[in-house]
Amino acid sequence: MSGLHVASGLSTLPPPKLSTPWKGPVDPRHLAFDIDGVVADTMKVFVDLARERFGLSHLTKEHLTCYDLRRCVPAPPHVIDELICLTLDDEHTAKIPAMEGAAEVLEHLAQWGPLRFVTARVWPESIERWLHALLPRIDCRAITVIATGNPERKHAILHELKVHYFVEDRLETCHLLAQNGIQPILFDQPWNRTPAPFPRVFTWKDLSLLLNLKPHEP
Ligand SMILES: [Mg+2]
Repeated sequence: MSGLHVASGLSTLPPPKLSTPWKGPVDPRHLAFDIDGVVADTMKVFVDLARERFGLSHLTKEHLTCYDLRRCVPAPPHVIDELICLTLDDEHTAKIPAMEGAAEVLEHLAQWGPLRFVTARVWPESIERWLHALLPRIDCRAITVIATGNPERKHAILHELKVHYFVEDRLETCHLLAQNGIQPILFDQPWNRTPAPFPRVFTWKDLSLLLNLKPHEP
């Protein structure tokens, strides 16, 4: 399932530290974002549904320690598939909470130009509506969402958009981006806590500090 494979075996690793101090400010016009797991706390809905509908009452987001959910959620594959479909459907997408601080930082970044989001979801419409609801003060025309349907297609799209920095939670995608000359910024989640040679941020406040934005001059 594109965009949302997650995992097994509880991680015993301590949360990693912010790995690479940023050198110099980032131009927000060269920046773009993944959505699920970065702006949207999508797996919160997955866990809630697993608990409410399938009795997986002990399950928490911390149990989702790898991107392939079949390897970390103690449920049959068909249950996991159903949970993923439910999580991503229009009704539940609308209910996904945002990651804390995301709206504030994105609103700030919107001063520099359109916000660009590249998701591995197959259909962009429901998550596009979700972003518009999250960012009501930003003109809809200043929010671009591209759905690739496949995380391995992100780097080609990002090159077309002239993006140099991409905020992403899927480790494999970060490696692929780096191999293709795009600087990944890893948004920490339980499913990406293996050592990685990328800057890692734990919150949107961390991200804001890492980007080292200069005050916008109109
Ligand atoms: Mg993601």
